[in-house]
Amino acid sequence: MSEYIFLFDLDSTISKKEILPTISMRIGKLEKMRELTEATMRGEIPFRTSFLNRVKILTPVNVSEVNALVAEIPLNEAISQFIRENRERCYVLTGNLDVWISGLMRKIGMDQHVYCSKAEVREDRITQVISVVDKELMAKQFVQPLVVIGDGDNDSGMAKYADIAIGFGGVRNIAPSLLRNIDYAFYDDIRCAEFLKSLL
Ligand SMILES: [Mg+2]
Repeated sequence: MSEYIFLFDLDSTISKKEILPTISMRIGKLEKMRELTEATMRGEIPFRTSFLNRVKILTPVNVSEVNALVAEIPLNEAISQFIRENRERCYVLTGNLDVWISGLMRKIGMDQHVYCSKAEVREDRITQVISVVDKELMAKQFVQPLVVIGDGDNDSGMAKYADIAIGFGGVRNIAPSLLRNIDYAFYDDIRCAEFLKSLL
């Protein structure tokens, strides 16, 4: 029997807070970031455009500083634990930049199991974004049956390729576009992880 591969969104699925707004708060740029993030979550601005604009807001900050802040972001513990215990079958698909999330990925054992956007760095600053991940395209490339877990508008693309699509609404509301494409919705970290375990 084929085994499921589990694809996780990062922000508000594994993490208890949205990563970019959390960093923006630390540097006093929260308002601008929040507006962009909310509009993107609702699907009003294409993810790619919005992401590039959000990266611009954070480019004045040293990459190492952002990386350290991201590594300390609180996580949904039961979901993170499931990932740590089943790392060979789990992957993280996130629009976030490799240079910002590498510390966090190491922490949950996903440093070799992450598909994310990429940027070039010189002297601890981002000089340019090289690629922005397309979750739908990435999900399409998997061969094994998929379980997909996410909360945002840009997770609905990968949900299309899922054998089992799960919305996680434990941190924020599941985006309407995703809600229409899921098989299950969970609003609690522990119950979501229990369900994932039942699929092993
Ligand atoms: Mg998310």
